[in-house]
Amino acid sequence: MRYPFLDLATVSAPFADALKEAACRVVDSGRYVGGAENEAFEAELAAATGVPYAVGVSNGLDALKLIFKAYMAMGRLQPGDAVIVPANTYIASVLAVTDCGLEPVFVEPDPATLNLDTSLLEAAVTPRTRAILTVHLYGRACYDAAMADVAARHGLIIVEDNAQAIGADAPCASTRGTTRTGSLGDAAAFSFYPTKNLGALGDAGAVTTYDSELARTVRALANYGSDRRYHNIYEGYNCRLAPIQAAFLRVKLPTLEAETRHRTVVAAIYDSAIDNPLIRKPLVDTPDRAVWHQYVVLCGQRDRLQDYLTAQGVGTDIHYAVPPHRQPCYSRYASLPLPVTDMIAGSCLSLPVSSCTSEQDAREIAAIINDFRQ
Ligand SMILES: *Cc1c(COP(=O)(O)O)cnc(C)c1O
Repeated sequence: MRYPFLDLATVSAPFADALKEAACRVVDSGRYVGGAENEAFEAELAAATGVPYAVGVSNGLDALKLIFKAYMAMGRLQPGDAVIVPANTYIASVLAVTDCGLEPVFVEPDPATLNLDTSLLEAAVTPRTRAILTVHLYGRACYDAAMADVAARHGLIIVEDNAQAIGADAPCASTRGTTRTGSLGDAAAFSFYPTKNLGALGDAGAVTTYDSELARTVRALANYGSDRRYHNIYEGYNCRLAPIQAAFLRVKLPTLEAETRHRTVVAAIYDSAIDNPLIRKPLVDTPDRAVWHQYVVLCGQRDRLQDYLTAQGVGTDIHYAVPPHRQPCYSRYASLPLPVTDMIAGSCLSLPVSSCTSEQDAREIAAIINDFRQ
């Protein structure tokens, strides 16, 4: 591919020496579970997010599951409680809800932002609703006054799925006056899967929160339910962050702002240069507070567009071709009427937007897209 969608070796290349040094530090430390690297990374992530607590965990799905299981252990959620989730999301968001014995209530996206349409929240609340799982999809914060208002009036917990939006800001301040994703709700899950904006060299994740009890409960649940050695207060799990991943993440976290700036510049180039009536570009807010994990266009002839771009040497991907409610494992939700989600799944295409795509690449890709014809 002349313009690769994403190449992880290229992403790692600028950090190769520092990553190898970090790996050597861990090898020499003799500390392979927990320890100083984890503690330092948690403090650095909490500071970057603007919250008092961050707990490193094994991956993003476990981060979400641990949040729900912690709220259950704390008596704030019960099996069978309803959790509002966006219908247009990666399946992991929904897997966390159903794995915990909670009932997902799917809400359609706003076709302009592709994020959950917060004007539909009020109608989705039932007497069983206890939480909203907001997903900051494609790097755009999904949080506004309408969500805060519905949550406050119905006493709902807000959990953020921040797997795709580390470093993004919401257009409106939270009830605490913060705007950074991961600090907007009651608890947030992060993923450091290698393709995310802040990627480890393997699986990794984290939970952030203001709530010391939630942080303590998540930490205990992730460590066999143990609050101190050989003392198990919960029937827990092993969902710990590997120190070697914490060490890698500490190398890359200070460069996240530059990564975000680059993605924002590429998105701005696409926004100004792509001009084709067959293609609907994503909304770019002014000022732009998204972190552009994906730059997703909609096209009624998506598969033809993808084939055309492949032939022109432009790598693309589809996030996501089959929405959660249409997956075989969720056949019980297949009959739900979710036409906007289905429309997006059938027409979305992700263009290259990572550090593998230069500004010149973005201009050339836009020109190729402008030559796409019916
Ligand atoms: C990647 C992702 C997850 C899961 O994270 P993992 O680290 O892969 O388990 C959850 N939600 C969303 C929206 C994601 O993009």
